Amino acid sequence: MIVRRRWTAAATTAILISAVLSHPGSGAAAPAPAPRPAVTLAGDETALVRVQLRDQAQLDQLVARGADLANRPRSADGRILADLVLTGAQLAELTAQGATAVQVVQRAGDGARHFAESVRAAQARTAAGLCAPAAGQRTTSAATAVDTLQFLQAYWWTTGGRTFVQTQVATTATDDPDVEITVSWRAADGATGSFPLTRFEDSGEYQYHYTLPVPVPSRPVQVTATSSLGGVSRPVTPALWPNAAPPPLPEGYQKDFIDAYLTPVDIQARIKRLARQYRGLVDVIDLPYKTQGYRRTATAYLGDPAAAAVVVESVRFGDQGMNGVQVRTVDPGRGNRPLTATYRDRVLTVSLATDRSGAVVSTTDDVAAVINARFPNRFRAFVEDGSAGLPMPVVAPVRLDDGLEGTEVPTKPWTVQALRIGKHRDGSRIGVLAYSQEHAREWATPLVTLEFAERMLANSRTDPATRELLEQVDIFVIPTVNPDGANYSFHDFNFQRKNLVNHCTGTSRDPRNRDAWGVDLNRNYTVGSYFDGYVGGSGNCLSGTYAGSGELSEAESRNVIALAREHRNIRFAMNVHSYGGYFMWPPGAYKADGRVTLPRPSIDESKLFLDSARRIVGAIAQERGTVTWPSQTGPVADVLYSAAGNSADELYYELGIFAWDFEVGNDRWNDETGQWEGVGFQPPFEEAHAESQEYAGGLVEMVRVARDYAAAQEG
Ligand SMILES: [Zn+2]
Repeated sequence: MIVRRRWTAAATTAILISAVLSHPGSGAAAPAPAPRPAVTLAGDETALVRVQLRDQAQLDQLVARGADLANRPRSADGRILADLVLTGAQLAELTAQGATAVQVVQRAGDGARHFAESVRAAQARTAAGLCAPAAGQRTTSAATAVDTLQFLQAYWWTTGGRTFVQTQVATTATDDPDVEITVSWRAADGATGSFPLTRFEDSGEYQYHYTLPVPVPSRPVQVTATSSLGGVSRPVTPALWPNAAPPPLPEGYQKDFIDAYLTPVDIQARIKRLARQYRGLVDVIDLPYKTQGYRRTATAYLGDPAAAAVVVESVRFGDQGMNGVQVRTVDPGRGNRPLTATYRDRVLTVSLATDRSGAVVSTTDDVAAVINARFPNRFRAFVEDGSAGLPMPVVAPVRLDDGLEGTEVPTKPWTVQALRIGKHRDGSRIGVLAYSQEHAREWATPLVTLEFAERMLANSRTDPATRELLEQVDIFVIPTVNPDGANYSFHDFNFQRKNLVNHCTGTSRDPRNRDAWGVDLNRNYTVGSYFDGYVGGSGNCLSGTYAGSGELSEAESRNVIALAREHRNIRFAMNVHSYGGYFMWPPGAYKADGRVTLPRPSIDESKLFLDSARRIVGAIAQERGTVTWPSQTGPVADVLYSAAGNSADELYYELGIFAWDFEVGNDRWNDETGQWEGVGFQPPFEEAHAESQEYAGGLVEMVRVARDYAAAQEG
């Protein structure tokens, strides 16, 4: 049996969704939809919301404006569904333009609540193929048909006692946006039904028609596609997905080392403990580039931003003696006085200019200019957006503050650490790398890599198969690539995705933008980058996908590359993200014009990627039956979106590493509503825990893939 350490059976496979949605069912076998609850947000509330968009144009507009899309918009029943981080005001704007909110996946307060609950629960316990075409061929059945159809995918699987089928079909009528395709199915028990597909375009290019997995009463034995233009496909027998299973877990296999969400401080402690507990099997590697640290400059509005204000900012970080520094303006009380600025006893005083009659004549621009001119090494000042040229008011002292709430977080530059696990940590064995939390808000991801690390270590003492893997494979794990952003996500703004380095200049440094600063580390690498003209990164410092001030401008991304370069035995890598349930590999980016991707892997490499993916997907399913959909297994650029300058592409194209990406946190099927429901970045802990267990199993399978690859190379 399986040993469940420090975890009771109570919390296992519950489907945990912060808000239940309902909208029309997608499958013929789906039950009638429940009434739809209203989805509402206050104007300034930020939340992660699943939105049904009006049309493709609305989606394109959102992408062009750098919207914070949590995963790839999906089509179901002809509707485009996108998960967006937005405010109530932004949602209202979208709704006015024809969009409909269908599910609040996560509200801003949910992260903190789920974190606190997870810690409390832990304390209580202590006290107590993708491209594999499914044999379809074109068939034109009627003389009137003007298109022909081909199945690109037809797969089925069973999970949680329910059977699903998923298909992709291509029509030759690629330019006709109105062609409708319907798939009819027949199941082993004789039942029949049908479901519509949705046209999928990417970057203006027709890809195929598809839909989300559809429930069927039993194993589907035949599917046929028909189009509104008269085209009919050849009947196809869906194949079993993923049709690969790992070796069964041996008696006494140890797992479940995750009790609660882990902050970077917690992760640091866990790394230290593992190194102490498993001496001889672990090295801790301090990666070479220290991060900025959990720090911000200190700022204040001098004046009222709703009326007239100047933003004053410290040049140094708030924790470097600048928090609490006071700033004020004064009326000199006499005529003909010049504008002056003095700094004494931690008080910056701007004495405003007066005219002959003694009236103040300084403007906001004058005040910003005098501060910058007098104290360029200590302060930066700029006129708040909307306050240009206004008379400068007399302002009583205000204190500069960095606004950071995480009092127990060290403010120093942070040393990112990797665990190196194996019997022979000398480069003589094939290496694998698992790294997580490039994106700060993806709290479940370090749980996956740490569970994986500890499973390998603990079982090496009791399980001969694990011991054998550690004989043959050299494992590297970076649990949190982005600790500064993660600290900010835990303590300040739970939807923080990027790191804490602020490259903004001018008025975009206004502290009202504090939650939008930072670099998207998974857009900061050099291959297929925004700087090379690839799609999916941004040059706007406030965008969710801001690529940085240049390739590898960030310590965090340089660290990942430094580790891979230093240890050239690493041949496989997994970049662990959340959420959505994806399994991906290169190419991860394309250029907009003509949708030209980075070079496709060779036929042999594509086969290795797909065959390994099926093994790993099978291993993930071993835990609670979660099946990563075939439509979400494949090259990043095909199944998710173009992600210019991502790390997997860097590892693959620069270093020849077979580099994958997980998006853990698969949608859960809700039998009552007949819908797939998103789990979000910071689900209730039971869900995050379940994700850590299933995806750690996937990483163990990656180690077996590496072992088998090395053996085949030798043989
Ligand atoms: Zn991510």
